[in-house]
Amino acid sequence: MYLHLDMDYFFAQLEEKRRPMAKNKIIVVCVYSGRTEDSGVVSTVNYLGREIGIHSGMPIAFAKKRAPPADSIFVPIDREYYEQTSLRLDQIIRRSCDRVVQASIDEWNVEDKNAIDKAARLKDSIKNELGLTCSVGVAPSILGAKMAASKSKPNGLLILDKSEERRFIDESSLEKVPGIGPKTVAALNQIGAAKVKDLRNISVVTLAEIFGRKTGGWLHNLSSGNFDQDIGEEKPQDEVSRIGTLKESTRDSYLLLSKLTELENEAKEWLMNMKKSYKTLSITFITEDLKTHTKSTSFRNPKSWNEDISKDMEALVSEFLSENNMEIRRIGIRFANFMDMDCQTTLF
Ligand SMILES: [Mg+2]
Repeated sequence: MYLHLDMDYFFAQLEEKRRPMAKNKIIVVCVYSGRTEDSGVVSTVNYLGREIGIHSGMPIAFAKKRAPPADSIFVPIDREYYEQTSLRLDQIIRRSCDRVVQASIDEWNVEDKNAIDKAARLKDSIKNELGLTCSVGVAPSILGAKMAASKSKPNGLLILDKSEERRFIDESSLEKVPGIGPKTVAALNQIGAAKVKDLRNISVVTLAEIFGRKTGGWLHNLSSGNFDQDIGEEKPQDEVSRIGTLKESTRDSYLLLSKLTELENEAKEWLMNMKKSYKTLSITFITEDLKTHTKSTSFRNPKSWNEDISKDMEALVSEFLSENNMEIRRIGIRFANFMDMDCQTTLF
């Protein structure tokens, strides 16, 4: 069985979570362009905001016209925070499921024969550990699972068996099917197809003539109940990095190293989970003038996550401080040049 997990209005939900006072308020996460106070666009909005017609991509000034000022909060996007949470979600999901592919910052595809049993537990773990809600679909195909998840939003769970899946997809309008874009929908509407089942009235030859062999064949399969089984592949990650903002800009190596240690532990948790060792350590410094500087060191033998590198970090920090006299605003750590720890054991 396949499972698709999609966080509910992810960025806005995270902003809601860190502002318990904002309960029952409209939350609009914005990408400010900085030209004027309100220039930029809406990134995500919670359900209260959606109800009054605010949506992603809308200019912030338009959203402000719709949102009553006393009941709404406009916040700047905070990718660092969202990415850190995404990583914790990824760990929760991988801990409990067999084959996992992260599809985006807030969506996961899973193939697991016990997906039905695991779905509700997964939702509970995410709720208990992170206080967040998501929507989950489970079906005999990944396409069915995705459509079930979006149907069940918000905070839903929809499990379909083979015949329910077939009926559900058959009765679905074409624009609800992931993978069918607006142009294809318009073209299909023109030849009399509005729902997936209507595609059965169009021959595979006609579909291929209009949309090309690949898409035509895919549409034909869709109408015949052959749904996508491919959960995709993860691009292999070749580095792991964490970056953080210092409480205030500083050149105090004690403060810099304590922030670095915090980031080191987060990044090493990933190394441990992924069973990776590394040969390159880099430290990134973002100075007051917003310029980025990097100091790196490479190790002859790969290092595992549990090896102490405090001396190496210290050396890189003091090297940087001796070369540059600006205050440091943000600092980051990066591990790269990976080796699998399993293969290392056989090598050494
Ligand atoms: Mg989502």
